Amino acid sequence: MKKLALVLLLCFAPPAIPDGLPDLGDVSQITLSPAQERQIGRQSMLQIRASKEYLDDAEINDYLNQLGAKLVENSPEPSLDFEFFAINDYTVNAFALPGGFIGVNAGLLLTTQSESELASVLSHEISHVTQHHLARMIAGQKNDSLVSMAAIAVAILAARTNPQAAEAAIVSSQAGAIQKQLNFTRTYEEEADRIGLQLLQKSGFDPHAMPGFLERLQKATSLLDSNAPNYMRTHPITSDRIAEIENRVQKLPYRLIPDSLNFQLVRTKLIEAQKSAPEAIAYFSDALGTQKYGNPIAQRYGLVRALLRNHEIKRAAKELAVLRKQVQSNQTLKVNPMIETLAGQVKREAGDKVGTLAFYRTAVQNFPQHRALIYDYADLLLQDKQAESAVKLLSEQINRHPRDTRLYDLQARAYAMQGMTIEQHQAQAYSYAWQGNLYAAIEQLELAKQAGGSFYQLSTIESDLRELRELQNENMK
Ligand SMILES: [Zn+2]
Repeated sequence: MKKLALVLLLCFAPPAIPDGLPDLGDVSQITLSPAQERQIGRQSMLQIRASKEYLDDAEINDYLNQLGAKLVENSPEPSLDFEFFAINDYTVNAFALPGGFIGVNAGLLLTTQSESELASVLSHEISHVTQHHLARMIAGQKNDSLVSMAAIAVAILAARTNPQAAEAAIVSSQAGAIQKQLNFTRTYEEEADRIGLQLLQKSGFDPHAMPGFLERLQKATSLLDSNAPNYMRTHPITSDRIAEIENRVQKLPYRLIPDSLNFQLVRTKLIEAQKSAPEAIAYFSDALGTQKYGNPIAQRYGLVRALLRNHEIKRAAKELAVLRKQVQSNQTLKVNPMIETLAGQVKREAGDKVGTLAFYRTAVQNFPQHRALIYDYADLLLQDKQAESAVKLLSEQINRHPRDTRLYDLQARAYAMQGMTIEQHQAQAYSYAWQGNLYAAIEQLELAKQAGGSFYQLSTIESDLRELRELQNENMK
C-alpha cells in the first residue's frame, strides 16, 4: 500500500510562536502565521469531523466546494487552500475557521432563495479568512500552545453553531474568557462585506443578493426577537451595515443569474431528508402536480429519492426515466452527476446486476470526480467479489481525495476480501485518523505491525505511528 503521507497532511509541528506574545494593546495588530492558522484549522476540523455536527454527504460538500472555489478564484488570496463543509443543523448559520475551513449549516442552504444569496454568504466568510480576522482574534488571546488555540477555535465554533452547547464544549478557562468576544467587531464585519461584495461581483453573481439576503434575515429576526438566528449573533447585522452595502450596490445593474441545477438538487436533497418518506412523496407529487412553483427537474429528483427510500422501486424507476429524459432534452445539461448517482441506486435496487455494473462503468468515466458515485460503484464491485477492480478504483480516488474516510473504509473492505491484512489495517487506520479518532487509528496500526510485512511496510507503519502518537500527546497537554 502506498505511503499516504499523514506526515504531510496532518503537518504536525510544534507551533512556532514565541514565548509570550508582545502586548501591543491593539489586538488587531497581532496575528498568526499562515502555517499556524492552517494547523489550528486542521486540528479544529478533526474535532468537527468526529462530532455529529458534520454532515457527511459528499454531494453536498462537493457542491459547496465547487461554488466556493469559483469565489476564491477572485479573492485577494486565490492560491489559499479552502475547505467548505456542511453542518447538520437546520438553524441559519455559516462560519469560518482559521486556515480556510468554512462551515455552512443545512438551515442556511435552505433559507437562501437563490444561488447568488448563498454565494454572498460564502463570499463574506471567505473574506473573514483572507483578511485573517479569526487569526487576529485568537492571536490576541496570547496562547502559546497549538492545541489550546485549536480548542479556542472549536469553542468559538460551538458558540457560533449552538450557543447552548457552547458551555459544554468550552473546557479551558481561556476559551471561556474569549467567549465574551466571540462576535466579529463592526470593523471586521464591514471589511468582510466590502471584500465579499467584490468577490461576488467578480465571480458573476448578482451583487444585490447580499443586501437582499441580510434584509430578509433581519426582518425575520425582528419578528422572532430573542430567537435570532445564530448568523445574526455572530455576524451582527445592523441597519447601518445593510445601508452601507446597499449604497455600494446601488449603481450596479441587477443581474438575473439562473441558479445551477446542483444548487436546486442539493436543497431538494435536504428538504427530502427532513421529511418521512411518505410525507416527501406527497410533498413532491403535489409540487409536480400544481406546476406553479419550483423547478420540475429538482422536484422529480426529490420524488425519486423519496420513492427509493420508501422501497417503491417500480414507481421510482418510472419517474427516473421521465427525469433523465427531461435532463437529456435540456441543451445546457444533457446529463447531471447527482441524477446519475440516484439512477445507479434505483437500478441496483431493481436487481439487474449486469446492467447496473455496465451503467456504473460509463457513469464513473463521465464523472470521475463525483465521489458519491464512486462509493456506490466500489460497494457494488465488492458485493460482486471484484476486490481487485475495487482497489484500483479506490486507490485512484484516494490520490484525489486523501482525506476521504469513506474511501479508506471501502479500501479496507477490499483488502480484507483479498486477505491483505496489513493493508487492511493501514487503510482502517487512515480512516480513523481522518475522523479524528487517533486512539483507534493507533490501534489499527499496531495490528498492522503485528501482521508482519516487508521492511518498507514496517517502516511506513512505524513512521505513521510516531506521527499519530505525537499528535495524541499534543492533544493531551
Ligand atoms: Zn461576518
